[in-house]
Amino acid sequence: MRFKEIDEKIIAASVVSRFLRYVQVWTTSCRHVEKTPSTPGQWDLAKLLVEELQALGVQDVTLTDSCYVIAHLPASAGKENVPCVGFLAHLDTSDEVSGKDVKPRLVEDYDGGVIYLAGNRRLDPALDPDLAAQKGKSIIHTDGTTLLGADDKAGIAEIMGAVECLIQRSEIAHGDMEIIFSPDEETGKGLPDFPYEKSRAAVCYTLDGGALGEIEVECFNAAEAVITFTGKSMHPGYARGKMANAVVMAANFVNMLPRSESPEATDGYFGYFYASEINGTTERARLDVLVRDFDLGVMKERLERLEFFAKAVEAQFPEGAVNIEITDQYHNMKEKIDERPEALDMLKQALSNTGVDVRIKPIRGGTDGSRLTEMGVPTPNIFTGGRNWHGTLEWASVPEMTAACKVVIELIRLWGEA
Ligand SMILES: [Zn+2]
Repeated sequence: MRFKEIDEKIIAASVVSRFLRYVQVWTTSCRHVEKTPSTPGQWDLAKLLVEELQALGVQDVTLTDSCYVIAHLPASAGKENVPCVGFLAHLDTSDEVSGKDVKPRLVEDYDGGVIYLAGNRRLDPALDPDLAAQKGKSIIHTDGTTLLGADDKAGIAEIMGAVECLIQRSEIAHGDMEIIFSPDEETGKGLPDFPYEKSRAAVCYTLDGGALGEIEVECFNAAEAVITFTGKSMHPGYARGKMANAVVMAANFVNMLPRSESPEATDGYFGYFYASEINGTTERARLDVLVRDFDLGVMKERLERLEFFAKAVEAQFPEGAVNIEITDQYHNMKEKIDERPEALDMLKQALSNTGVDVRIKPIRGGTDGSRLTEMGVPTPNIFTGGRNWHGTLEWASVPEMTAACKVVIELIRLWGEA
């Protein structure tokens, strides 16, 4: 299928207007809240999407008790028996930076210069080659006070744009299309309360990736370690030889984490320990360490090392105790995707058909796709055109968002021929 010039413009306009609307809904999630969704704002976006899907004419739309939107665009006549293909994006944004009162700025025909933002922040093309490459194109960035939320509202806008296009262009024959918008991806809970009974996708794609052409079929194995330090508190004036200070115990533990195996010291296929949060008093302190590795064997070894560090701290503080609780978060999806190569083959074909060069890279993180893959639905991840996620310097490329939307349309069309 060839997209004509007019289609490009219609698709871009649809994706951009949707994106600008969605990012203004405050959907920051909170990883310390157990229930799903972790924050009420995610309902607002979910309800908006339900309304928009219904307004487009999609009849089979469900909003679950846990804030999943799951919808189906029925197959074209004669395509009822081709595999159902799912497209998934997440409603929430990271809680590392505020996602409240996002004021997106659309720059048409970007001049390639420095963009000044609030608080002395700036988008500098000299420091960001990807940004420099957007000269003459349209981009969307923040005002510098919040994140943008392209992770993952770009993905949502691209899927919605594809649904709109498929409804308007009924000559594009396709099979059953499943649309899923999930809450709390950023909390690392991994699709809690997923409505499996409503899902019938044989293969799925997340739109939760980065730059044009990047597709991802390999992600970290991930675990969270919550380490509790129990000290022995007493009057500091009479503490000599008696006090065990949980604050110092925790600091000691952090010092044992190898600096060369931290997020800020690694890239590519190297895993890490990430001391992500710490708080406490003399009596009791808590440290959260996120452990990541592509190799499951090395991952196990990393978790064992945490136990060694705990014993070493206890040896230095005989009056204190260290306890580690490990929660498995998600697994590398490569092995499972390799078992069903057609999911990736079809994706590569869709990129090629829409004129996008394929770049396969490992995800230094996870997506909801890793969970679905584990459940037997191979779920590669597709670029969305967003950059600098989880920060105030986040921006998104309009031509790349348009390209992602076209890939979705081409993918569902290709699967219709399977
Ligand atoms: Zn994401």
